[in-house]
Formats: sequence, C-alpha cells, structure tokens
Amino acid sequence: MINKNWQAFVKKPFVIAGPCSAESESQVMETATALSKIEEVKIFRAGIWKPRTRPNSFEGIGLAALDWMKNVYPETGLLTAVEVANAQHVELALKAGINILWLGARTTVNPFYVQEIADALKGTGIPVMVKNPIHPELQLWQGAIERIYNAGIDQIAAIHRGFYTYNKTLFRNNPHWDIAIQLKMWQPDLPIICDPSHITGRRDLIKIVSQKALDLDFQGLMIETHPNPDKALSDAAQQITPKTLKEILADLVYRDIKITNKEFRSQLEELRSEIDKIDENLLEILAHRFEMIEKIGTYKRENNVAILQLERFMEILKTRTEIGAKLNLNEQFVKQLFDQIHQESIQKQTEILSQGININKV
Ligand code: PEP
Ligand code: MN
Repeated sequence: MINKNWQAFVKKPFVIAGPCSAESESQVMETATALSKIEEVKIFRAGIWKPRTRPNSFEGIGLAALDWMKNVYPETGLLTAVEVANAQHVELALKAGINILWLGARTTVNPFYVQEIADALKGTGIPVMVKNPIHPELQLWQGAIERIYNAGIDQIAAIHRGFYTYNKTLFRNNPHWDIAIQLKMWQPDLPIICDPSHITGRRDLIKIVSQKALDLDFQGLMIETHPNPDKALSDAAQQITPKTLKEILADLVYRDIKITNKEFRSQLEELRSEIDKIDENLLEILAHRFEMIEKIGTYKRENNVAILQLERFMEILKTRTEIGAKLNLNEQFVKQLFDQIHQESIQKQTEILSQGININKV
C-alpha cells in the first residue's frame, strides 16, 4: 500500500518540528534556521489556518503565511508541511510549493471534509499525513487513510496526537496507545509518527511521551517548537525552543527492537499498553485516595482527633484482604500493600496536624 521510497524516508529517527502557528516571517525563519541545525529534523511544520475550538482566538495568518513558508526550503534545506482542512487549502498549499500536507484531528473526524480533500489531492502525488480523529475511534482514522489512498496518494503516514476525554487526566489528549497499535496491526507498512505536543499539552512531559513512542516502534515525532514558547499565539504551554528540542532528542534512547516476529511484537505491545493504562489509572486512584486522606486530616485537626485509629486500620486490613481474596489476589500481598498505603496516610496526616503549631511553644 505504501510507497517504498517514502517508507525509507520516514525512517527513525525522523522528526518534524516547527511552531504550532506561523506568526510572522521572522518567527518562521528563526525557527526553521535553528531547527535545520538539528540532525534528526527533516521537515518544518507550521499551522497556516488554525482550527480553534472557540472563535475569537488566534485563527492563523492564512495566505500571507504561506508566502513565508516558500523561503524555508531554499534557505534551510528543510521540507515544509502544513495542515489542510478543505479543498481550497490544498490548492493554495500546492501553489505555494509546500512539500507535505497533513489532516488535523478536527478534519479526520469528518468524512465529508476528508473526501473533499481527497478529491482535491487526486493526481498531485503529494505526501499526506493523517492525524487521528479527536475521539477514540479507530475506524474513522482508517477511513480517512483509505480515502486519501483511494485518491492515488501512496506516500501516507499516520500521526498519533491522542484523543479527547471529558475526564481530565495528566494529558491534554489521552494517548490511547492501544488504538495506535491496532492501526499498526492493520497496516504494518504505514509509518506512524507520534505528536507528543498535542498528547501532553505541556512541555515537561514531551520527553517521556516521545520515549514511549520510540519504545513502541513509532517511526518519528512531530514536536511543536517556537523561539519564545511563552509568547506563542497558540498552544503556548506545549511548545519548546529548538534548543530544548535538541536536548530532548539527544536524551532519547533508540532501542533495538529484537523481537522479529511482527505479529507477536504487535500483540505484546498491545498488552503492554493495556498495562500502562492500568498503571496510570492505579496512580490516579491512589492520588485521589490521598486527597481524601488530606481532607480527613484537616477534619481531625479541626476536631482535635488522634491520627491513628487502630480499629479503623484493623477493619481496613480485614475487609481489603477479604475483597482481595475474592478477586484472586494473594492475601499477604494485599496486606503489605495496605500497610504501605496506611503508613503514607499517617505521614500525610501528621504533616497536616502539625501545621500551624510552633514547636518552640509546645
Ligand atoms: C496542530 O498540529 O497544530 C493541530 C492543530 O493539531 P491537532 O489537529 O492534532 O489538534
Ligand atoms: Mn498546536
């Protein structure tokens, strides 16, 4: 399905970087020049038309910004990529000599738009990257890729940018690695690139998520980069400077994936990604439990109640091991687990109870 030359091009380590939005000619050129000095960066990205969730936020510069993009390749040697959301965008981007196009999450979600874009792409042969849809639906992602492929485009890559969830988690968009792995199982030759910027929504998690993507054998990364991230007109919290990008890339480990049987590897990855999800849930639940502990600690302080209520602890151990036994969990293990949790709770409550007390006056 996928063109072999394209597969060879999109090979690890393959990095697409650039600002969320093209904001000014100098911002475009300053970013591109700095990025062109980073070996792994092959493509310069910039948003020209920004699909913002709410009106009245910065919606991109539009046509004028496409003109700035024209200088990127001649001056830095980086290929250019922009997001297209309708047929007119495709036409204008092609006219401006943009090298690669991508469909954003808000476009992949709508088969009418995807088809309109696919029709505009017919006969162009330009490489196209397809982001996952906003919500976690594998078929919609597959459908968009098929529509682009059916338009005669055989240089396609998928971009995994996470999925919206109503319940807020650590991430801006939940990674749902299982869906990306299923896409890989469906088309093992389709390159998949991870976009840790839109998954995390925050700078400090970009490295962890990038490493995770490489460990899952993703071909590359798309990372939003800005010369002055705090001043960015869109997605400020997640953008990093080219210098930080260089440091992150230098720290990433490209592991040699030894398991050669592709199907076995995909299944293993899927199971591991389930485990990762469960661990994240476990940690979120634990954090929630400790929030409750803090509330109880404050309540005890206000009512002058002792921290250690031995009866309550005995009851917890008894009921939890009973529930654990019904769930086939080893009794000793459950006891130790709750012992640990209890010790941490006492520690937390001690901190709360000692607040405001001046030791010297006691
Ligand atoms: C973007 O890449 O700037 C963008 C708008 O991303 P997404 O479609 O993933 O929200
Ligand atoms: Mn963005």
